[in-house]
Amino acid sequence: MPMFEESDFGVEAPTSPSQLNVPSYFESMSVGSHEQHNLPIPGDHGEGPIEIPASRSSISEASKYMHNLSISPSQKDRRASRNSFGASLPIPRSKRRSRLSSVHHAEDADGQKVRPGMPPIQPTREILASQIQSIETKKVLKAKNMAFAFDIDGVLVHGDLLIPEGKRALEILNGDNELGIKIPHIFLTNGSGKPEQARCDQLSKILQNPVNTEQFIQSHTPMSALASYYNSVLVVGGVGYRCREVAEQYGFKDVIVPNDIVAWDSTIAPYREFTEYEKAMSRPRDFSKHNIEAILVFSDSRDYATDIQIIMDLLLSENGRLKTKAKDPESQRIPIYFSQGDLLCPTEHWTPRMSQGAFRVGLEAMYKAMTGVDLERVVYGKPELATYKYADEVMASWMEQIHGEEKLPENIYMIGDNPASDIIGGNMYGWNTCLVRTGVFQGGDNDENNPANFGVFPNVLEAVQTALRKELGDDFKMHFDETVNPVLHGSKTDAAAII
Ligand SMILES: [Mg+2]
Repeated sequence: MPMFEESDFGVEAPTSPSQLNVPSYFESMSVGSHEQHNLPIPGDHGEGPIEIPASRSSISEASKYMHNLSISPSQKDRRASRNSFGASLPIPRSKRRSRLSSVHHAEDADGQKVRPGMPPIQPTREILASQIQSIETKKVLKAKNMAFAFDIDGVLVHGDLLIPEGKRALEILNGDNELGIKIPHIFLTNGSGKPEQARCDQLSKILQNPVNTEQFIQSHTPMSALASYYNSVLVVGGVGYRCREVAEQYGFKDVIVPNDIVAWDSTIAPYREFTEYEKAMSRPRDFSKHNIEAILVFSDSRDYATDIQIIMDLLLSENGRLKTKAKDPESQRIPIYFSQGDLLCPTEHWTPRMSQGAFRVGLEAMYKAMTGVDLERVVYGKPELATYKYADEVMASWMEQIHGEEKLPENIYMIGDNPASDIIGGNMYGWNTCLVRTGVFQGGDNDENNPANFGVFPNVLEAVQTALRKELGDDFKMHFDETVNPVLHGSKTDAAAII
């Protein structure tokens, strides 16, 4: 079983920003602007989440995939904004508790201190590192002013298999360098379907380096901000009931999954065979007396027929109440969100498999065929601007955790294998982008449509080492020397100064 049910290898929908003259478009946007669509998502504003304008239209992409005859002849003219659902993507503010430390700590693969509550096992190393850092102040400043954002699949791992250079790259950033300093890095993946903690535990084991949930963003992580807008939501996708668990951890108070609805009325999904286990795990109630406020597709559907049927019933209902038919399906339609937009993802199969983007396009086409109008929806994940804004929040907060300074480093390096999401998103956001050859990209000198601006590298270790040398000097050593004499470590001038 691959580690990522939804690999972040995804291939972007053809209408990805790469084909929309994105740079000028992206530059023109700012947080809080509502240039494209004016109506906000319902809820309180001015507190809690930050709202980011979507970088792709909120309007369905279905028509370009459809033959004209499949569109209802009574098609109405599309209105830009019909209901109170606009194209801004709320993201959470990332305020985390502070755990001050500026030096390398001995940790096991799960990121836990080796001796909780006790002095670290290698106090000498910590003392040495802090002494060296107190001498090499200029280098330390530079090290704290750079950061890495790693895509995961195809960069650090293949499914649940380690890419060996990934382990070494993380060791260097976790303190095995001449300063003994932690160089900030976060993980930014379009993967989904499991709670962050479970994913980080799994990654820590594979990478043999600690991966903390507070430096980790998967496709649906920023969707936690929606918990302050909606109480009762339908969560779609993922294995079993894991996405319910994820949504509850995000703070959604009333999380309904399609199986709850099938358990209430099995005739809603005529082709579904419902097992006793599924029945026992479900939480049926009378959904004809209950309004569902939003649909959140967290992960890949495991049962397109059931999920699309239920989603469609809700979209056509009166304000999300099943067994009703909306008088005006547009104004009474509840909003729908998708955690990422990848059309395809490579798996063990010889050709890529359909991913959440394909599910969405299919749903949009069905909706348009039945109603004659386009479905408005919001898509999170790379290369959406909201995901990168959230990455900034997480990066600044992670800086506070490891260095006690809540600031965003200026020189950020995105390392990814997919030009259509990792690289275009990083380029648009002003990051340095590094494309590696260990995943999706197998091309020539650089990707033609979305070239990495910092270069193409055979693997993640080469990319990290090149970036470190650029920021910290060609002679920067990627190894911490336990036998070093801190007094003699710096330049002669420095050594003399402290003597
Ligand atoms: Mg990837």
